[in-house]
Amino acid sequence: MESGHSGYTVGIARENTQAPGVGSTPEAHSTPGAGRFAPSPSGDFHLGNLRTYTLAWLFARSTGRRMLYRIEDIDQQRSHDSAALDQMEDLASFGMDWDGEPIKQSDRFPLYDDALHWLAEHGWVYECYCSRKDIREASRAPHVAPGMYPGTCRNLTDEQRHEQRAKLAEQGRKPAIRFNAHAAYEAVADNDPTANGSHTTPGLWTIHEDFATSGQQSESAPPSESTPSSVPNTYSGPVDDIVLHRGDGNWAYNLAVVVDDLTMGVDQITRGDDLLSSAPAQNFLATALHPWATHASATTSATPAVHPTRWRYNHVPLVVTKQEMKGHENTNRQLKRLAKRDGAVTVRELGHDTAWAWVAQSLGHSEYASAPELLQVIDLEAMSHEPVVWTPPQ
Ligand SMILES: [Zn+2]
Repeated sequence: MESGHSGYTVGIARENTQAPGVGSTPEAHSTPGAGRFAPSPSGDFHLGNLRTYTLAWLFARSTGRRMLYRIEDIDQQRSHDSAALDQMEDLASFGMDWDGEPIKQSDRFPLYDDALHWLAEHGWVYECYCSRKDIREASRAPHVAPGMYPGTCRNLTDEQRHEQRAKLAEQGRKPAIRFNAHAAYEAVADNDPTANGSHTTPGLWTIHEDFATSGQQSESAPPSESTPSSVPNTYSGPVDDIVLHRGDGNWAYNLAVVVDDLTMGVDQITRGDDLLSSAPAQNFLATALHPWATHASATTSATPAVHPTRWRYNHVPLVVTKQEMKGHENTNRQLKRLAKRDGAVTVRELGHDTAWAWVAQSLGHSEYASAPELLQVIDLEAMSHEPVVWTPPQ
């Protein structure tokens, strides 16, 4: 876990890592919030990553927001400093810039710890002793929504916890720590200054979704997890008892990303629509943590936390490939998200110009050679909401 000494000074270790114009002009700061790039440095960007990050940059810059850069390296086994640098070089080579120095999650474990302690002081965390198999089996019960934690360990007695902890210790395992969203719900929803009645259904949380549900629901998200709201530009989902700290000792993605977005002053999140169904639970956790973050961000960043009920989300369609599936010819069931195993699909394999040409064309503007040029002409509201199909060259 000791990573603070791994040695790269992000942004200055290589020349030309940052695009021209990094640290944008004062007039670009007219909106207080920020968007963010948040890649995991586990390898080269493929076309799907490049398209999503291009959109993240376009959405932020077209609304006068700052653009921040966060390296999501909590999974230190899969993260490589060289990949982080390559990713920054790739984005910069297409003219995408960002404000300030990139932030590394592996430098922020004390901050995650502080947030977890604050939640614990409120009685909003508990230990979970379940294995994946336990959760899978308990989730088959009819009252449990697909993908939701069934609540097995939420209300155990001290004695039961003692027993469960001992049982895990025999197997060399430790409990995970979960957010007690159910305990937090009333306190948080009642104090929500911007709710305006939008949280009137107990246990549901509503986010501002400006892309995926504005009129049409992207079909690349699994239908069972998708709950398009009847209110335009919103998306509702259940608050869930998400894992904050994992049994293997690692910080959970859901806690890290929420703490970071809060303390970095992010208020616009553009990412793949495979993450849409997890957004309400994340936003609810962020709302619960907001009082903590107003204090924490005062000491960790120059940017005040934006209240999470004002965050804007753009869950954009993934780049997909067609696979052979009997009985599903010409339906979306045939589509699966683009992955590196689909052949030469990374920016570096395809080459800078080929990769950009495909992304720009998929955004309806093949003639523009860089992200700043696209920014001048693109109409993001008119963009297609359908999954984008990558067809490998024959
Ligand atoms: Zn459990």
